Amino acid sequence: MSTYQEIIPIAEKILKKYDLCDHCLGRLFSKQLHLSSNKVLGKKLKKKLGSQKCYVCKNLFENLNHFLKLMVDASSNYSFTTFSVGSMIKPSIVDRDDFIRSQFKLKGIDSVKTDITKELGRLFSRKTKKTTDPIDPEITFTVNFKDESCQIRSKSITISGRYVKSQRGFPQKQKSCDNCSGKGCRICNFHGITEFDSVEGAISKLVFKKFGGTIAKFTWIGGEDQSSLVLGTGRPFFVKIQNPLKRKSKLSSTTTNTIDLSNLKLVYESPKKSLKFISTIKIAISTEIPVDSKHLKKLKDLTLNPIVVYEKSGKRSEKKIFKVNYKKISKNAFTLIIKAEGGLPIKRFVIGDDITPGIATILDTPCKCQEFDFLDIEVK
Ligand SMILES: [Zn+2]
Ligand SMILES: [Zn+2]
Repeated sequence: MSTYQEIIPIAEKILKKYDLCDHCLGRLFSKQLHLSSNKVLGKKLKKKLGSQKCYVCKNLFENLNHFLKLMVDASSNYSFTTFSVGSMIKPSIVDRDDFIRSQFKLKGIDSVKTDITKELGRLFSRKTKKTTDPIDPEITFTVNFKDESCQIRSKSITISGRYVKSQRGFPQKQKSCDNCSGKGCRICNFHGITEFDSVEGAISKLVFKKFGGTIAKFTWIGGEDQSSLVLGTGRPFFVKIQNPLKRKSKLSSTTTNTIDLSNLKLVYESPKKSLKFISTIKIAISTEIPVDSKHLKKLKDLTLNPIVVYEKSGKRSEKKIFKVNYKKISKNAFTLIIKAEGGLPIKRFVIGDDITPGIATILDTPCKCQEFDFLDIEVK
């Protein structure tokens, strides 16, 4: 802590060698005097001297209105309440700032870069009534003083919901844009997908319309085949929308030409760990040799021990089956309804491909899964 009287000689010494603007001069001493405005202090210290071109910033502080306008323009399409500012400034400015600080042994003060971004934040806040939040802002500006541009990024939002698919033929996932493999490019409007004829596509289309944004990243609670139906209360999902323009919107149940969406709500984030869930699945199975009810009765034993699933990677997992029902349809066909732990690969379970026990093994005849539908999905 120093007194104003103590710093006057140092300030005079600096000003004898270097012209500094009010901001840059004030910044060198404001911390030790516990003052908040660099500009007011600088002005006071310099009262007798006429203003020249600042040695450190070349009077950048006097031209911040130009950059403020870039920020206002860049953010005009976004709805937000909090923001933060970052900047890229010419290395020569940083060098001169470092040089003067080391020459006069001035420690613990803001750098010229910190002060410029703080000042821009103050100006933007005053003009737009938005609040600065350096920790978790909704909007982040990066003002580039080198090429006089302003980049803007908005914090992602996440929505959860459920979908019911009552028509066969729509895949769950959407193929990525051919040009960018899903990273986002000009051709796909930075969405990473160019078509919208899947469950993912239908949800994406809806959220882009409501919130804007670039890429929609999905977390699915289980998956199904293109030919599968998803009934009951539907399959839960989470979608994270990158760079949204809007952050709030009324979300109500809605029907697209592919799916019905319900339970839509804004959530804090997608689950970090995969959620445990239980699916009720109806499987249409055909057998190579005719099976009678005596054979089929053996399927009831599926609830006794967990099903062991081996992956190509060598990973082993167990899935419990809680309930089994079956109905004979014809000599070589029956319907199986199971309530099982989520993630059981149904087709492989029927043929018994690296899964024990599989349906084919239990019935002792090759089996084929003709179709499988989800009757309900419960999250634990
Ligand atoms: Zn300056
Ligand atoms: Zn693309």
